Amino acid sequence: MTATEGFEATLEVDLAAITANWRGLCARHGASVAGVVKADAYGLGAGPVARALAEAGCRHFFVAQFAEGMALREALGAGPMIAVLGGFPPGADAGAGLTPVLNGPTDIAAWQAAGAPGAGTILHLDTGMERLGLSPVERAALPPGALDGLGLRYVMTHLACADEPGHELNALQPRRFAEAAAAFPGIPRSLANSAGIFHGAAMASDLARPGCALYGLNPTPGQTNPMRQVLRLTVPVLQVRQVAAGTPVGYGATWVAKRDSRIATIAAGYADGYLRALSSRGIGIVAGRPVPLVGRVSMDLITLDVTDAPDIRPGDRVEMIGPAQTPDEVAALAGTIGYEVMTSLGARYRRQYRPA
Ligand SMILES: *Cc1c(COP(=O)(O)O)cnc(C)c1O
Repeated sequence: MTATEGFEATLEVDLAAITANWRGLCARHGASVAGVVKADAYGLGAGPVARALAEAGCRHFFVAQFAEGMALREALGAGPMIAVLGGFPPGADAGAGLTPVLNGPTDIAAWQAAGAPGAGTILHLDTGMERLGLSPVERAALPPGALDGLGLRYVMTHLACADEPGHELNALQPRRFAEAAAAFPGIPRSLANSAGIFHGAAMASDLARPGCALYGLNPTPGQTNPMRQVLRLTVPVLQVRQVAAGTPVGYGATWVAKRDSRIATIAAGYADGYLRALSSRGIGIVAGRPVPLVGRVSMDLITLDVTDAPDIRPGDRVEMIGPAQTPDEVAALAGTIGYEVMTSLGARYRRQYRPA
C-alpha cells in the first residue's frame, strides 16, 4: 500500500482468464501450445503471466529478445523451454538456458561459433513473410553439414496473413512449410499463431505459438470473439468542473462545449500509452455507461464530458479499456490494432493480478 493508492490508474489482469484462454486453445489445437510472452506479455507483465501459464501446464514460452529471455528464465526457474524469436546475437551467452530461433546464416554461424549445445535451437524456415527465417535460396546455398549439430528442437515458420482467412498465403505457407520441413525428418514442427489455430487441421503442428488470443484479442476478426477478456484499465477522476456553453477544453482548444457541460479530468494520458489518436474519439465507461473523451489527450491527463453522468466525483474510477470496451474496440477508434493498444499499456499503471 502506497500513500497515493487510489489515485493511480490501475490495470487489473485476470490470470484465470489467461489460463482459461490457454486451455481453450490447447483443446482446439489438439497438440502442444506455447505461450508467447514477448513485449512483457503484450503489456500485461511477462513474469506473472508466464508463471500462471507454467502453473497451468504450459511448457514452452516465446519472447522476442535475448534480454527478455534472461529475465523470464529468472522468473520461471529451470524447466520450461524459453525460445528467443529474435535470434542469437553474436557474443550472447549460449549457456543461458535459452533456445534461440535461428533466423538465417548469420544466426547459425554465431550459434556454431558459441560451440555450446545449450538448451537447443529452433530453425526458422521462411515460407512467405520475407522478414526473418532461412529462405529456400539461402538453404540451398548452405555448405554441406552447415545444419548439423544445431541441437534442433523444432523447425518453425510464421504466417503472414492468418487474420485474413481468404488470403492465398494461408494455403501456400503450410504447403511450403511441409516441403521445407521434410528435410528435417523427426524434428517437431511449429506453425500457427493465434489466428492460425482457428484455421483448423491445415495449420495444426506439434507446437502452436499464440500470443494475442491468450490476452483476449479476437483471433477470428469479423466473427464473435471466442476468447475471454483479460484486462481492465480504470483511471481515477482528479477533478470535475462546470464549463459554460462555448467554452473550449484542453490543448489547442480543439473541443468547444455545445451546451453547459461538466468535464471530468482523469489521471492518465499518452505517456501511459493511451494513444493521442484517441483525442475527441475515445470513450470512458462510468457506471456501465459510455461518456465521450473531449479535446486532446494530454501527456498525463484526459478530459471527459460527464454531463450525462451527474453523480461522478473526484476519486471515482472510469474504465478506459476493459470488458465494456475491449482493446480491439479501442484500437478501432484509434485507427490501429489491439496489439498496439496492449503493448502500449503504460509502465505507470499499477498492475493488479487476479490469481489463476
Ligand atoms: C508474435 C508472434 C507470435 C504470436 O502471434 P499472435 O498473433 O499474437 O498469436 C507467434 N510467432 C511469431 C514468430 C511471432 O512473432
